[in-house]
Amino acid sequence: MTDTPTQLFIGGAWLDAADGATMPVDDPATGEILCHVADAGPKDARLAEAAAVQMQEEWALTAPRARSEILRRAYEIILERTEELAHLMTAEMGKPLAEARGEVAYAAEFLRWFSEEAVRIDGGAGILPDGRNRMLLSRRPVGPCLLITPWNFPLAMGTRKIGPAIAAGCTMVLKPAPQTPLSSLALAAILQEAGLPDGVLNVVTTSRAGQVCEPLLRGGGIRKLSFTGSTAVGRLLLAQSAEAVVRTSMELGGNAPFIVFEDADLDKAVDGAMLAKMRNMGEACTAANRFFVHHSVAEEFGRRLAERMGALVVGPGTRDGVDVGPLIDRTGRGKVEALVTDAVERGARVLVGGRTPEGPGCFYPPTVLTDVSPESRLMDTEIFGPVAAILTFDDEDEVIRRANDTPWGLVGYVFTEGLDRALRVSERLEVGMVGLNTGLVSNPAAPFGGVKQSGLGREGGRVGIDEFLEYQYLAIPMR
Ligand code: NAP
Repeated sequence: MTDTPTQLFIGGAWLDAADGATMPVDDPATGEILCHVADAGPKDARLAEAAAVQMQEEWALTAPRARSEILRRAYEIILERTEELAHLMTAEMGKPLAEARGEVAYAAEFLRWFSEEAVRIDGGAGILPDGRNRMLLSRRPVGPCLLITPWNFPLAMGTRKIGPAIAAGCTMVLKPAPQTPLSSLALAAILQEAGLPDGVLNVVTTSRAGQVCEPLLRGGGIRKLSFTGSTAVGRLLLAQSAEAVVRTSMELGGNAPFIVFEDADLDKAVDGAMLAKMRNMGEACTAANRFFVHHSVAEEFGRRLAERMGALVVGPGTRDGVDVGPLIDRTGRGKVEALVTDAVERGARVLVGGRTPEGPGCFYPPTVLTDVSPESRLMDTEIFGPVAAILTFDDEDEVIRRANDTPWGLVGYVFTEGLDRALRVSERLEVGMVGLNTGLVSNPAAPFGGVKQSGLGREGGRVGIDEFLEYQYLAIPMR
């Protein structure tokens, strides 16, 4: 912790907030304060924006190979410092060290992936249909970007945006979540060490998100917003972006259906459920939120899932053998408790868990609920905790209709051994991603994102860089 930067990173310099404000960073496993970091205000945000705007033209002209090599070096440094970064992440966010190590590797991979994409930005050329003009298409960086990230994947949500922005030649202001600023500050230091020029990436940690971000979105200097967070905040930021017609990418909330058909391999389904539900303690936008299980296998599936969930070890993420760390804070845990209470009041049976432990920290036990009423609040709320809610269904059309009966559409999981059914159901689900007999879809090489109110645009994959590029078309007379 001692070497981790705690100041704002602006124009390549580490600075205190202009008004000297700081904010605490808590350890969710103990409730104790880990350290204080600078708490930026509007003045600091303006300074960060000015640094990004000033550097944009020069950075856009940097050779793609140079940008690529900075990303590659940063990827290597991150991997070398896996232990250090994983401990930092566990300290501020709570996830068990094994998961934090996994996130460090996942986060680094976005930098490697986009180091490879930086040198493959293509354009086009052709003759227009009327034969009078040639067209030349080139792709240019969209310009200075505002990147806003959540706390649940403190490093990977940053690199998933910073990687393509650097590759495309965009400068940035990054505003991480106030619960987890340390991973972003450590990442900024690594990118600087890897040779990123001053002013390309600027990081403002703040507890005053609205005051810091709104003027930037309305001001005209920022040309692009890339946001990951809740749908409610995304909607607000879309409205704020409208004034200066800022281009947006939105990775928003989910309400994933997890469908187990009567012909599913139940071993695979339970393994998949453990991943889709318990990765990150259930604090993931991809977390399975509604388990729809065919009535003929529901009891067996519930029994096996409850057995696996009940065997998980809950405790501080730094302790050996712990599978489930604390939730992010008391507010997050309070929301999970209220959703479980509501479901139980509406008739759900608790197969395992369901009781908040005494003592410090924000722990909540892995919980399986069955006979959940479709009227329960957790059916249309992201649980964001280790709670699996099981409902039953009778036929395929019915389950597709119920799975799609939500404003969200990020990801769905389908478990069946029938190929026809697998394809048919996947194609009818209104989601951006489907896990077919698997509980994990995230991969830097695949386009991540949702439909409906789960977002706009994609991160990762071949298309991830497109979000940071604009076409310019040049018309050239043939003669
Ligand atoms: P959140 O409350 O929407 O916050 C996300 C980020 O937005 C934080 O940095 C937050 O800072 C900031 N923010 C909030 N209000 C703002 C405003 N008025 N102006 C500018 N920034 C503002 O979400 P969260 O609770 O941190 O994260 C959980 C949500 O993220 C879930 O809905 C989850 O599904 C979603 N998520 C989606 C993806 C995806 O790829 N689709 C990935 C991960 C998470 P403050 O906390 O200071 O307000």
